[in-house]
Amino acid sequence: MIDRDSFEKLNLSIAFTEDLDRELEGHLNKGSRQEDLTFALWQPSQGATRYTAILQRLILPRENDRILQGNVAFTSDYLLRVLEEAKEGYGIALLRSHLGPGWQMMSYDDVVAERDRLAAVVAGKTKLPLVGLTRGTDGYWSGRFWLKGSSKEYVRKWVKNVRVIGQQLRVSFNPQLMPPLSSTDSQIATVSVWGEENQSILSRLHIGIIGLGSVGSIVAEALSRIGVSRITLIDHDKIELRNLDRTLGATMEDVINKTPKVKVSERVIKASHTSQKINILPFEGTLRSLEGLSHALDCDVLFSCVDRPFPRHMLNSLAYGHLIPVIDGGIKVKVNNHGKLLHADWRIHTVGPGRACMICLGALNMVEVALDMDGKLDDPVYIQGLGPELNPLLQRQNVFPFSLSVAAHEVLHLMGLIAGNPRIGGIGPQFYHCYPGMMEAKHSTQCSCDCEYNKLIGQVNQVI
Ligand SMILES: [Zn+2]
Repeated sequence: MIDRDSFEKLNLSIAFTEDLDRELEGHLNKGSRQEDLTFALWQPSQGATRYTAILQRLILPRENDRILQGNVAFTSDYLLRVLEEAKEGYGIALLRSHLGPGWQMMSYDDVVAERDRLAAVVAGKTKLPLVGLTRGTDGYWSGRFWLKGSSKEYVRKWVKNVRVIGQQLRVSFNPQLMPPLSSTDSQIATVSVWGEENQSILSRLHIGIIGLGSVGSIVAEALSRIGVSRITLIDHDKIELRNLDRTLGATMEDVINKTPKVKVSERVIKASHTSQKINILPFEGTLRSLEGLSHALDCDVLFSCVDRPFPRHMLNSLAYGHLIPVIDGGIKVKVNNHGKLLHADWRIHTVGPGRACMICLGALNMVEVALDMDGKLDDPVYIQGLGPELNPLLQRQNVFPFSLSVAAHEVLHLMGLIAGNPRIGGIGPQFYHCYPGMMEAKHSTQCSCDCEYNKLIGQVNQVI
């Protein structure tokens, strides 16, 4: 088990799917006079600074497993059954309902039940801390971990937020640890479009951008201007001459100085942000490294702005296993042998629980992922021999206006995801065709039933 000192340095969070939340509402909502409870199993997802309990499945009480008298208590038999079911690598959570709205504090009885009856028994069996959650009448969640103190006593540490992921990203924020950032005068026009409440959520999310090239550099500026206050930037590249026509903020001086792309975007964000305060976390390295991956795992939403298949496969896996929605896009340009543009198309989609993954959408294929993993896509001789279907992937034919369009729709997907409003981000995956100049949209679809990514939902231990 991670020791308490390490936990003290980490931000804590809890995440689960919209489907699980619906199941919980069905069980816990017993009207205005009766609380209820259930146990659940979870797996840890650990980033560089955040530790998340990913709820996997409920172990619902049977008829005589709890005592309902307005409030609620679990029996020892129920607890024994739950301890039995918690196999190695799984933690135990107790979830209960309260008869009030918003972030819930704990009654003395609740504290006694979790701290004195459960925390030591659960930690002893699972080697993971007990996690407690409370659901308010409006579906708002609050949560805490119970960590072993210096004496035998267990100490409560509140989580910063509880995230429910599906068609919408619904986040319950701890009002003490993550109070709302009030909007600024420079955001009046933005707030007038999607409202104070959505702005308040946006301003408290931690957003990651993987790849700060043509699309990523524009996404960075857009997030900065609309008021995102915590942005992780991941890219290992430095600015070269060939980047100047499509990387926002890059200058000839950056070419000469070989400035890392993350530093260019950091500079752009510092100059343009409208949030009261800004926290930019640039990581000059690749997502493939453990360190890069751990920075990605700190984020609430990720933008996939990489053009290589393997990192996109990693992000596709993270979206389901670690419950972090990923907004992805791609541009395909066909030019004939005489340099004439034949057609240009691009696509934008959000992947994660409740939505089809990149493979099921046809936006990524495993042959390309395997080639990239083998290092074949870095081999010029091999690339020369590739067929016409794979070649466009590697030609990097793109221009700034195409990237502007993709980046704009990706950011709108983010707003639609937060607001749960298809009138902002559209109804699902989007496909733009330069000829005749038309955006096609599809209703959000599900993965095929044998999809290996979809099977990863909440299965942190099986990702990558
Ligand atoms: Zn799938």
